[in-house]
Order: sequence, then C-alpha cells, then structure tokens
Amino acid sequence: ILTINNLTKKFGFLTAVNDLSFTINKGNVYGILGPNGSGKSTTLGIVLNVVNKTSGNFKWFNGTVDTHDALKKVGAIIERPNFYPYMTAAQNLKLVCKIKGVDYAKIDEKLEVVNLLDRKDHKFSTYSLGMKQRLAIASALLNDPEILILDEPTNGLDPQGIHQIRQIIKEIANQGTTILLASHLLDEVEKVCSHVVVLRKGVKLYSGRVDEMISSHGFFELKCDKQEHLLEYLK
Ligand code: ATP
Ligand code: MG
Repeated sequence: ILTINNLTKKFGFLTAVNDLSFTINKGNVYGILGPNGSGKSTTLGIVLNVVNKTSGNFKWFNGTVDTHDALKKVGAIIERPNFYPYMTAAQNLKLVCKIKGVDYAKIDEKLEVVNLLDRKDHKFSTYSLGMKQRLAIASALLNDPEILILDEPTNGLDPQGIHQIRQIIKEIANQGTTILLASHLLDEVEKVCSHVVVLRKGVKLYSGRVDEMISSHGFFELKCDKQEHLLEYLK
C-alpha cells in the first residue's frame, strides 16, 4: 500500500526523520513506536502531503496513482477531532459526506462500527473525548479507505475510552482495512499492532513483527517493566 524509501526531514539543523525506509502491506496493523519527538507525526505528515520532505521518497499503491489521488483512498486522523459543536454527530457526518461525495447511507454504517449509532442525534458538544475520537474514526471511514492512519489515537482518554478505541481499531482491521498508527506506548502497539517500526530521534531501530520484536529482540528485558525500559532505551 505504501513504500517509504530513505525519507529524511530536516527542520533547520534538526533531523526529525533520518533516512527512513519501510513498507506497509495490505491487511496488517502497523505501529510507529517511539518517544516524544522521535519523528512519528512528521513521518505521517509527509506521506499525507501536509509536511514537505527534505529528501527520499514515498509511493502509494505502487505508484499506480499520484499522491493526490492516492490520498482519496486513505483515511487519516492526525489532529484532535474537530466538528461543529452545536450540530449532532449525524449532521456533522452529513457534511463530511457532502464534501467527500459519499452516500448518506454510509453514516449509520460507520457509526455502527464505532458504537455511536444510538448517540447519533446527540450534539457533538455533549460527546466525551472518547466519543469524539470515535466519531472522528467514523468520519475517516466514510469513504471506505483502504488504509486508516491514526496519530496517537488514545491520547488523553481514560482507561475505558482507551480500551474502546483499541477494540474498534482491531475490528476495523478484522474487516480488512489496513491500519497505520503512531504511538509512544509499547503497550498500545503490543495490544493492537501486528507490525511495528520503532523510531528513535528519527532513526529506525527496528521494523518487523511485534511478536518477534518482543520474543527475540534485545531492546528490553521482559522481566522489567517493558514500557519504562523501552522508553529509557530510546532516549
Ligand atoms: P510526539 O510523541 O510528541 O507526538 P513525534 O514522534 O510525533 O512526537 P514529531 O512531532 O514528528 O515527533 O517531531 C520530531 C521532531 O521534529 C521533534 O524534535 C520536533 O520538535 C520537531 N518538529 C516537528 N515539527 C516541527 C516544525 N514544524 N518545526 C520545527 N521542528 C519541528
Ligand atoms: Mg506526534
């Protein structure tokens, strides 16, 4: 679905993404894992055409379509969900349908996926943060994207909200949508992803299967608190 080759992004003297290469294949759940400032969001921004790369390249769908057309088949949430507060969830999604040229019939279908169908006539302003995030996911799914990209999808949520989002991501993946998510939580990647790209200061430390990283890679001792250990290692 996506191939990234020797991608580099510099902000002045800072190299935010350093010679990064990896491939996203259909049907898997990919994580980009790394601590704050490791270049996760910058990488997502580049492939979504909202950040200019310094060098290297990336190719969507084997280069069969240009990036602009390719992004029509990509759903992405890289910012805080932003909808009209005094409109209902359904009304907000209607607007998105109009903009994307999608049939209104998709609204209920996608609200069902994120477990918000029964709340569709409630105003967005009454939604909890977790519900807002789920609505954003529904919105990103309206045009049946081949891949869903999420930047720190559970940030700021309470444990229940985190669990719900993770379950929904897994269900979406089970339905055949490829997922790419950025996270600074090893726990999240372990629970949700099949594959992972680990970044430290913009440099790739590992890419491959999550289970193989955990069973065979010497990043951390499993006896330790893995989260703490990994973040310490990645500093
Ligand atoms: P976080 O976990 O905090 O979201 P991240 O892994 O997403 O971190 P990035 O946001 O990609 O990291 O940032 C990578 C580096 O690039 C950081 O050092 C950041 O300060 C820097 N950076 C990002 N955007 C800009 C910008 N527009 N101008 C200058 N520096 C930037
Ligand atoms: Mg980020």
